[in-house]
Amino acid sequence: MEAMMEKDTIKTVTTHYIDGAFVESHGRQVIDVVKPTNGQVIARVTLGDEEDTRRAIAAAKRAFASFSRTTKEERSRYLLRLHKAVSARIDDLTGVMVEEYGGVAQFARLIVESGVTAFAAAEKGLQELPLRQSWGKTTVTLEPVGVAGLITAWNANALFICLKLASAVAAGCTVVLKPSEMSSLQTRVMVEALNAAELPKGVFNVVTGLGTVVGAELVRNPDVAKISFTGSVAVGEAIMRDGAATMKRVTLELGGKSPTIVLDDANLDKAIPSALILAFLNSGQACAAGTRLLVPKSRLDDVRRAIRDGMRAFTVGDPADPSIAIGPMVSQKQYERVESYIRKGIEEGAEVLVGGEGRPKGLEAGYFVKPTVFVNVKNDMTIAQEEIFGPVLSVIAYDSEDEAIRIANDSKYGLHAAVMGTDLQRAHRVASQLQAGRVVINGMTDDPQAPWGGFKYSGVGREYGRYGIEAFLETRAILES
Ligand code: NAD
Repeated sequence: MEAMMEKDTIKTVTTHYIDGAFVESHGRQVIDVVKPTNGQVIARVTLGDEEDTRRAIAAAKRAFASFSRTTKEERSRYLLRLHKAVSARIDDLTGVMVEEYGGVAQFARLIVESGVTAFAAAEKGLQELPLRQSWGKTTVTLEPVGVAGLITAWNANALFICLKLASAVAAGCTVVLKPSEMSSLQTRVMVEALNAAELPKGVFNVVTGLGTVVGAELVRNPDVAKISFTGSVAVGEAIMRDGAATMKRVTLELGGKSPTIVLDDANLDKAIPSALILAFLNSGQACAAGTRLLVPKSRLDDVRRAIRDGMRAFTVGDPADPSIAIGPMVSQKQYERVESYIRKGIEEGAEVLVGGEGRPKGLEAGYFVKPTVFVNVKNDMTIAQEEIFGPVLSVIAYDSEDEAIRIANDSKYGLHAAVMGTDLQRAHRVASQLQAGRVVINGMTDDPQAPWGGFKYSGVGREYGRYGIEAFLETRAILES
């Protein structure tokens, strides 16, 4: 196995993973990988092209013939092997996420650990899923849908790869994975880890490349039956449209503008710190980030004070330092995007309570922004409607519970939501009226068997547990006369 090469201090990656081996790229385009803490080039990556993609699809198609016929027990064994193999590389995967993406150390580790958990969770989900049911002279079986194209975003690379691969393997599908080209070093370490699980050749193949080249070939190719995608709404729309020509099954995990409703009976000393954690998850570069904080107008002064106090914990700096809560944005482009929204918020009349425009003092070299909280935000302002994907929180005041629910649902998105309150019955009543694929009560929490996915523009379909496996299955009924 060819190792990641280091020439001077610049690493190079020139291979893809096809048919159980690291193979040299047919595509010749080379891109720089830039370290977000200082803007320096740390690696050069050779990108795959349509030919690399077609080779990977052909390998996955060959492997599908036998892998699709594996039993539950065999797939369980593969999932447990993947779990063990990736577990062995948690430190390396965390380190490379901090270096290439700028994820803060503690959160990067959580992301990697969630990825590892995905294999065990899929194994459990598979056990609970009846793949065959029969009554009278009718038999219904759940069949792997075919070769799946897995296309992922850059903000939690390890998690997306593991989650999608785990569900596909549990279902008996073979895959071609196209991670974000901005996560090439992280992908490389992950593929080394996955390779150690010694799955049959061709079950998973990985081609690093551009969405418009490798991703587009996966979407267009008739030998790919399913696309599971995590990324932006714009690309999700294109995948749905272009995939229709070959009747692709699609799972789309897209953006969010998630509300956190603080009810008037909430203990603000607990609710506001929890709400801030939700808002600034993964330095704000999180699809689930609770970026609209809905608070009772009657408690606004106390909320402002609690936010000012709570924001002291959100220190910005070197993501490798475990005391740091907010790292740099992933790229110059993302830095500029976040800054432009902060400017827009000011122009539209929102009040900056914490943060504001420009780099924090002493952090001028990297893509750092100031974690920013706006108050006096109206829900129709751009900063309350559009996904910023950075550490920017909009505080919106409401008069009544009904108004809070109306504002929460007044969004094109519906991925995630949170409700904070002392009366749990009431919190559940509010949660059940929110148009969101997942609602958490009194703080961020997770359950790997619970579904994940969006209402409205936040996507199509669900991931995690048995719901995620079902997304890679077709139903067949056999009826005897
Ligand atoms: P993006 O849509 O730009 O890219 C996502 C992936 O799609 C990348 O691998 C990219 O190369 C590929 N791609 C681009 N054009 C393509 C095309 N024409 N055909 C096929 N593939 C193509 O998104 P991003 O900037 O990488 O990620 C940020 C977005 O992802 C945000 O909107 C965020 O909310 C969303 N996201 C959603 C979830 C979720 O679970 N719902 C999780 C994380 C991120």
